[in-house]
Amino acid sequence: MDFKYSREKMIREQIRARGVTNILVLNALLKVPRHLFVEESLRHRAYEDYPLPIGEGQTISQPYIVALMTEALKLKGGEKVLEIGTGSGYQTAILGEIAERVYSVERIPSLAKRAREILDSLGYKNISIKVGDGTYGWKEFSPYDGIIVTAGSPDIPPPLIEQLKDGGRLVIPVGDIFSQDLLVITKEKDKIKKENYGGVRFVKLIGEYGWRTD
Ligand code: SAM
Repeated sequence: MDFKYSREKMIREQIRARGVTNILVLNALLKVPRHLFVEESLRHRAYEDYPLPIGEGQTISQPYIVALMTEALKLKGGEKVLEIGTGSGYQTAILGEIAERVYSVERIPSLAKRAREILDSLGYKNISIKVGDGTYGWKEFSPYDGIIVTAGSPDIPPPLIEQLKDGGRLVIPVGDIFSQDLLVITKEKDKIKKENYGGVRFVKLIGEYGWRTD
């Protein structure tokens, strides 16, 4: 299979066609080999327009949603970014292409381990992953220029707002377990601005400040 051709087609038909134009995001999507983040039997479907299973009841997000959420962070390069929900590590790699430093938290150890292995094999040196409840954020390296949550939450976890830099952006799906709104929170001085980027559907953010149970 010609995966480079598949990536170009994905960008043309799914990403640009829906209005994502940020060149850093498009270049990252063109470069990162998404097919390596799914199991071998699903590789031929890796560039199609939907999420795919990655084991443990979790998914790798639809390419367009990865693009939309990354664009919403408004990165210019050089930032420090926190991701909650490493999953396959695909979104992490996209962030690693653009930001200077990426910290990512995953609650399921086997997923974190596999993501670490793939990211190492691809040579990413600017990504740190830890296993834990990401609703607490990762205080040690805060504050962050951007925070991205790749699971749906009933509310915005307060530690994530606290760990956001002044002027920083938090991208998070908030709603019930069936559907959420993709919210972009901007922190300016002590004020919080909220924008709604539209409806999405994510697996649950499970933890102290998310859903309390599976
Ligand atoms: N961005 C990922 C990718 O590209 O593969 C998709 C992530 S998947 C939709 C959501 C992930 O969030 C799952 O791997 C899940 O285990 C993780 N997750 C759920 N609650 C979490 C929490 N409190 N802390 C860290 N990770 C969490």
